[in-house]
Amino acid sequence: MARIGVFVCHCGTNIAGTVDVKYVAEEMSKEKGVIISRDYKYMCSDPGQNIIKEYIRLYKLDRVVVASCSPLLHERTFQNTVKEEGLNPYLMEMANIREQCSWVHKDRAEATLKAIELIKMSVAKVRMNEPLFPKRIPLERKALVIGGGISGMQAALDIAMVGHPVILVERAPSIGGRMAQFDKTFPTLDCAACILTPKMVDVRSNPNIRILTYSEVESVEGYVGNFEVKIRKKARSVDMSKCTGCGECMQKCPSRVDSEFDLGLGKRKAIYIPFPQAVPNVPVIDRAHCRFFTQGKCKVCQKVCPAEAINYEQTDEIITEKVGAIVAATGFDLSDPNDYSEYGGGRYKDVINGLQFERMINASGPTEGHLKRPSDGKEPKTIVFIQCVGSRDENLGRPYCSKMCCMYTAKHAILTKEHIPDAQVYVFYIDIRAAGKNYEEFVRRAIEQYGANYLRGRVSRIFEKNGKLIVRGADTLLRSQVEIEADMVVLATALVARSDAIKVAQMLGIPYDQNRFFTEMHPKLAPVENVTAGIYLTGACQAPKDIPDSVASASGASVKVCVLFANEELISDPMTAQINPALCSLCKTCVDLCPFSAIVEEEVKRPDGQTQRQMRVIDGVCHGCGACVASCRPGAITLKGYTDQQIFSEIESLASNF
Ligand code: SF4
Ligand code: SF4
Repeated sequence: MARIGVFVCHCGTNIAGTVDVKYVAEEMSKEKGVIISRDYKYMCSDPGQNIIKEYIRLYKLDRVVVASCSPLLHERTFQNTVKEEGLNPYLMEMANIREQCSWVHKDRAEATLKAIELIKMSVAKVRMNEPLFPKRIPLERKALVIGGGISGMQAALDIAMVGHPVILVERAPSIGGRMAQFDKTFPTLDCAACILTPKMVDVRSNPNIRILTYSEVESVEGYVGNFEVKIRKKARSVDMSKCTGCGECMQKCPSRVDSEFDLGLGKRKAIYIPFPQAVPNVPVIDRAHCRFFTQGKCKVCQKVCPAEAINYEQTDEIITEKVGAIVAATGFDLSDPNDYSEYGGGRYKDVINGLQFERMINASGPTEGHLKRPSDGKEPKTIVFIQCVGSRDENLGRPYCSKMCCMYTAKHAILTKEHIPDAQVYVFYIDIRAAGKNYEEFVRRAIEQYGANYLRGRVSRIFEKNGKLIVRGADTLLRSQVEIEADMVVLATALVARSDAIKVAQMLGIPYDQNRFFTEMHPKLAPVENVTAGIYLTGACQAPKDIPDSVASASGASVKVCVLFANEELISDPMTAQINPALCSLCKTCVDLCPFSAIVEEEVKRPDGQTQRQMRVIDGVCHGCGACVASCRPGAITLKGYTDQQIFSEIESLASNF
């Protein structure tokens, strides 16, 4: 016969304010199998846990029920408490008499009766509990980082510096990401390349990091500690081992196309390196625009390449790797100009976005750092900046703030005045959100030191008249209409999720929000973790983030990876589903229902040498949610720790009172 101890917590007045805990403890001592029942003010405190331990020893208890708060908060605490006294942790049950009782009821008498019923159910269950033992799962201590921007590079460096191998996959021909396109960074006005390129060099020279640029992750299978990833390394058409980066090919290539890196403001060749400090410094042939690939003749680059590095026959390569953890650092996109018909919808050449402004003002950009109107190359004298374009806009279905537009617009205002001291700078804003360190001071500097004219209000329309852009809006502080004749307009357009965010989320098993940004496990307490174990998030794939926040979240994600890799192998929660092959009809309903893809069909060898198909639950993937158990018609699936018998015993305990 079981020897059960019941421990009822007051939780200060959280429980005791509504439930008569002393009476509850007295009533529980009358239950069959309950050897001792007592109450205490804070059961989770050290003295509270010591009471449990002492009573286990004193009364030779072999099962324990703790009636307190949600198991989400303290199940681990009390499992460890009983474990320290030699009991299997799964012989401890919790009855939640706080969230499910005292916090949701006011009537003390009824709440007390309900608490007793809840604890009786736990006593009924714990009688049926069996010891459970965690399984050991092998762990591949190698990480995959998807995205080679500032977040991905930081995460890769942090993990690699601890000594773990990292594969860094970047779809562009070079690592560097968005930050490589910036000119200066706020609020310090550091040259972006000066602080980014040393990091790129660190990544390139770290022997633990394998960089795969011009590559994309095609599939991810497996589970924490044991992911199998397939990466498509796209054909560069240039042999990386031979190329010296001399650039002869790019100079002689006759095909010129709009440069994506310069957002259409400049040109590149069909064989190109996106920017001078690119890593690797090896060109790639854009086959969609290469004359040889489109017209069957040219081969100029092959003729001029002194290293004989051009290889038109190169094909995509599929690389299969086993990794234990994955960091998603896939970044963001900018919203489409067509979204803003009132601002010309991308029709006016002199209405550009903030990133185009960055490229224009950058010394290695398309205008070599000179501010010029894209339409006629003249220096603009009146520039209007408009904040919150497409952000905080319910009509576009984007109610969120893009977070950094206030700051980079202030930076653009300062840089404009530094480049063209006599320029008139106007900034339309809804309100200024400058909550970072030294951010507010930076905006004040733009206004007070550089004389930027900040107008509080929305712009209703931009139209062209006599070669000028007419910006019509409202100044809500002066309560008047404003019309400004501008030479150039810069839109602080919304940061949006990557166009393929849903595809990536589905591949990795990451939930996403209504704006397609990836969702963390908990916004405050687990901001870089994910519901899928072993997959971590960093940077602007979660939400708009500036550089300091992106770097901080990257280091956070890499710490989580290193914590995981601190173990030789993984210990899995034993509360997982298991399938009885003798009852399983192979209908596979469970496979479709399992939200974690934890059930697989496999071929096994029978003792007679024949093979047979069989369903199996992968312990490391199963979260013990029970969805498959409820779906299995022949009743072949059992959830360890929640068997039918255990649940029926709880129901019977409750029903016996009615
Ligand atoms: S084959 Fe010709 S068009 Fe194609 S990348 Fe080489 S030089 Fe340029
Ligand atoms: S010419 Fe040859 S070696 Fe020089 S950058 Fe082009 S591919 Fe590389």
